[in-house]
Amino acid sequence: MKRFALILIPFLLLTMQTPASAEKNNDKQLKAAIIIDDFGGGTGGVRDFLEGDIPITAAVMPFTEHSKEHAEWAHKNGFEVMVHLPMQPKKGKRSWLGPKPITVDLSHKEVKQRVKEALKSVPYAVGLNNHMGSLAVEDEEVVRAIVEVAKEKKLYIVDSGTSPKSKFPQIAKEMNVPLLKRDVFLDDISSSSHVRKQMNRLAKITEFTGRGIAIGHVGVTGKVCSVGIFQSMDEFKRRNIKIVPASQLFATKLTEQYLIP
Ligand SMILES: [Zn+2]
Repeated sequence: MKRFALILIPFLLLTMQTPASAEKNNDKQLKAAIIIDDFGGGTGGVRDFLEGDIPITAAVMPFTEHSKEHAEWAHKNGFEVMVHLPMQPKKGKRSWLGPKPITVDLSHKEVKQRVKEALKSVPYAVGLNNHMGSLAVEDEEVVRAIVEVAKEKKLYIVDSGTSPKSKFPQIAKEMNVPLLKRDVFLDDISSSSHVRKQMNRLAKITEFTGRGIAIGHVGVTGKVCSVGIFQSMDEFKRRNIKIVPASQLFATKLTEQYLIP
């Protein structure tokens, strides 16, 4: 009898857990985020997104003529705002970075200062991701300085994935700062049919893992990018995938901790 009870107890415990797990499973809505980079810079597609009805997340470049305007416009229309932090790449023109980028020659203190200034330049930002940065994201000291500010200001981070050797995941984990990595670039080829194809990849990844994260752009490819995304929405509805602000892809606890002041 004793032996039977010993076997039975773990079994009962398992059974007791079932309702809670079932509840969790009911909440398993497939969720994908579409981050649109380079707001504040180019203007192509800006109006289409910010006056549109897809809950994209607007990643706004700091220190540009339109930084503040685009951030405020996005916020006013209910879009989540991120800072799109320009970071030094291995190749490319300096002009692609815009003013006051994060470069590897800056000291720890200077990087922190610059990230804080960037935040002031982009009101309402609740997260950050990197613009370019294939060189700077591999620099542990630079990345640590950025993650420290993210922790202080309670920002989440999305690693745009411009280098496979990015230090963001490791350091964010070390410092307990929420981070996600970009799964798909939508407009690396500028045609709406390519964007639709990439949106289909986003849908597949979301179905496979429960969540997905894509990055598109305003600017020269902005119009084409917006057309491709809008054309994909019926398909997303059919597949029961909800487009959500990037912050909603994080675990509830972290979101509460990070987003409620
Ligand atoms: Zn960018």
